[in-house]
Amino acid sequence: SASADPAERPLIAQFRAATKRYGDVLAADALDFGIGSGEFLSFLGPSGCGKTTALRMLAGFETPTSGDIYLDGERVTEVPAYLRPVNMVFQHYALFPHLTVADNIGYGLMQRRPRPARAEVARKVDRALEMVRLSGFGPRRIWEMSGGQQQRVALARAIVNEPKILLLDEPLAALDRKLRREMQIELQTLQRQLGITFVLVTHDQEEALSMSDRICIMRAGRIVQSGSPNALYDHPINRYVADFVGKSNFLNGRLASLSGKNGQVETASGQRFTGRMHTELAQGTPVSLSIRPEQIGLAHMAQDGALPVTVINRIFLGEHTEYLVRHAVLGDLLVLVARQAEANEGSFAPGDAAHVHWAPQAALILPED
Ligand code: ATP
Repeated sequence: SASADPAERPLIAQFRAATKRYGDVLAADALDFGIGSGEFLSFLGPSGCGKTTALRMLAGFETPTSGDIYLDGERVTEVPAYLRPVNMVFQHYALFPHLTVADNIGYGLMQRRPRPARAEVARKVDRALEMVRLSGFGPRRIWEMSGGQQQRVALARAIVNEPKILLLDEPLAALDRKLRREMQIELQTLQRQLGITFVLVTHDQEEALSMSDRICIMRAGRIVQSGSPNALYDHPINRYVADFVGKSNFLNGRLASLSGKNGQVETASGQRFTGRMHTELAQGTPVSLSIRPEQIGLAHMAQDGALPVTVINRIFLGEHTEYLVRHAVLGDLLVLVARQAEANEGSFAPGDAAHVHWAPQAALILPED
């Protein structure tokens, strides 16, 4: 199987200073990075940041304005989509509703010249159906399939000719939440089984976090940071990434003092908080102190260094309870309390007075950009 560290894998795809302009819009700004063979990579970012453009340049649906695309070691910048060893799964599956499931999946194979033997096509279609757990559904019509099943047919069609890369453009967007979660697990399992490189575009951070080996966080045509879901969550390079990967609380201020990896943030109201720094920052820099909701403790009793707050809202989430609490000066904070911790401390109701505290090493000092 592929190496866990993407950096150690042979590259299946490369962007080399790949830029795409649409008039004045810089949709991709000198993208320069590689995708490891067998990797599950996601492009994550808000609408319009250039995710789809990056994917479409890999697919061959867009030609870069400047720069190059390499696939499997070959320059393919002007090579049309149908000659590239890639397939794409679209948000709207683009299936032929009047054809059977099997005919939809085998359609591309039957277009090949010379046309492969029917038995050979049938064998590949059956294998693809098995991979997406739809064995026996071949004779059905598309309109007889549920949304989730249609999604799997689209996947089967995309893997039937064994592409080197499968490109997925918001493939689960049309599904309801529960089905999405199930399909996320299935997609990940399928990718592991096939060993094919998957490149996913999504604006859903949960989706990217749960499936990817590596995530590229994009903004305005550029990659702000790329790394494993864990690395991005624990070591975001700036506030933008911390905000996009997981939830966080941000206290704005400036870097008042620093010593080694620790610093002190002074808020506008003059309060000082200690935090850790992963990047070198100069004293006086505008920064945010980022504290993840699960790093904050909520208590009834005051203790050293704790901040007095009022409970505003409580949402029971099963294993966790999410509280919104308000500090008179610092504003609102999100606190995630584990079931066991809540059992120990007792729960809180809206209107209750409470105290929040966190360990200084759990707070990160981040620049804006
Ligand atoms: P979304 O999540 O909304 O799909 P995205 O991150 O995939 O967004 P892109 O579709 O890559 O973003 O678009 C990047 C930028 O390029 C946007 O500003 C968009 O308006 C612009 N753009 C994309 N395609 C075209 C086009 N064919 N013509 C003109 N502008 C385009």
